Amino acid sequence: MSGIRFVVEKQVATFINPLKDNQLDRQEIEVRFDPLLGHQSVFNPDLKDKVSILFPETDEKYLADVVEATRPKCFLCDGRWKETTPRYPEELIPGGRLIKNETVLFPNLFPLFGYHAVIMLGNKHYRRLDDFPVSLLCDAIGICIEFIHKCFKADPGARYFTINANYLFPAGSSVIHPHLQLIGGSLPTTFQEQLIHHSRKYFEKNGSIYWKDLVAVEKNLRQRWIGEIMDSCWISSFSPLGQNEVQAIWPDKKHFLEWNDNDVESAAIGISGVLKTYYEMKCSTFNFSIFSGALDGFDYGMRSMMRIITRQNVVPDHRTDDYYFQKLLKNEIILLPPEELSQKVKENLDNCLKSQ
Ligand SMILES: [Zn+2]
Repeated sequence: MSGIRFVVEKQVATFINPLKDNQLDRQEIEVRFDPLLGHQSVFNPDLKDKVSILFPETDEKYLADVVEATRPKCFLCDGRWKETTPRYPEELIPGGRLIKNETVLFPNLFPLFGYHAVIMLGNKHYRRLDDFPVSLLCDAIGICIEFIHKCFKADPGARYFTINANYLFPAGSSVIHPHLQLIGGSLPTTFQEQLIHHSRKYFEKNGSIYWKDLVAVEKNLRQRWIGEIMDSCWISSFSPLGQNEVQAIWPDKKHFLEWNDNDVESAAIGISGVLKTYYEMKCSTFNFSIFSGALDGFDYGMRSMMRIITRQNVVPDHRTDDYYFQKLLKNEIILLPPEELSQKVKENLDNCLKSQ
């Protein structure tokens, strides 16, 4: 028996509701706790009437205007990256940048960690979420793994890396042009450290790997299970950290140095399929982070995993979806139940999923 518990608590809000003929309204709110970290996600079914206010649909005309206005000066477009982007020292990266087909990895001009690279995701200045091909993501994640190998070989103290994405400005990106961000160094990021710490605690308490247990429990329950792509497992999150969150888990891979070509490809297939689903849901932005334990294998309870979420859609003067509730109270709101999201993603990934 695993140590995984899907804990839910109910709260009730009672008030005289002018939207319901000034009758006494009693709204039941579900609070879900992440089985590893304990953070809360809150689901109030009555919020469905407010979704269009909280997350208005993408303004396609406005987005097209922004794309066109930013294209001429984009530092990545039309091969300008060759002149505008910085390079790594020759001893780390011969030639200064890693290039694979249409993807290019180069240093961030304004780094936040010892290793902070940007990866150009192809030549197109803008991509709809249904236009992130598997081959493009495969190349981009592939050069990330190659870069991590090179960094760790040159600097064995740089043990902690994450591969991340901001797409479009409501998701935090300062440029439209699709790209990834890879950060690493001697310290895990705050959330990476929490994952590692709690994974270790779980192992010490239960004698098993949390991530393997999670996959087994979710596969058995089938409520949030999406499926397996090669050696990776895909689920919607019981207690998400953002809207429409999907998690991927590589149960046998402790860290990025253990990744092979299949792991890279499985990430690419899954991300491409999840983004197609987001597009069908009329979303236009996303964030993801792929986490790994320490590259020397020290973090024995941790496994490689990813969380991918949607953010506020592109509209003029968009309202942030990360306010006191998320940023300071560290809670999230669920609008689409994870048990429905898993089915939507599954439909898009069905032909890629292992038959089970
Ligand atoms: Zn561009």
